[in-house]
Amino acid sequence: MYNVAQVIDEKCTAKKGCRLCIMYCPEANCLDLNSSKMVAEVHIDRCKGCELCVVVCDAAKHNAIEMQAVSATGQLIAKKGESAALGQAYQG
Ligand code: SF4
Ligand code: SF4
Repeated sequence: MYNVAQVIDEKCTAKKGCRLCIMYCPEANCLDLNSSKMVAEVHIDRCKGCELCVVVCDAAKHNAIEMQAVSATGQLIAKKGESAALGQAYQG
């Protein structure tokens, strides 16, 4: 299991011109603009989980990217916005 970045579409301000995460992601063809939805989009098969995109998005006060666990086969374990619920489950 490892973590990848996921953009929360409702919080992403790409439609207003933000491209910070796309500029800073060190992996080629990993974080792109989805031009039909006008949001940043992570290709999880290329994401290395470095969290740099989270840092720059949070620094700009957009808070639109969160890390999500994926299984060894590359399947997202929790859907967007469900990380807290997953953590709560582990608390027993
Ligand atoms: S830095 Fe955040 S708000 Fe800006 S494009 Fe990336 S996900 Fe969207
Ligand atoms: S976690 Fe790192 S590799 Fe993954 S999308 Fe963000 S900046 Fe790119």
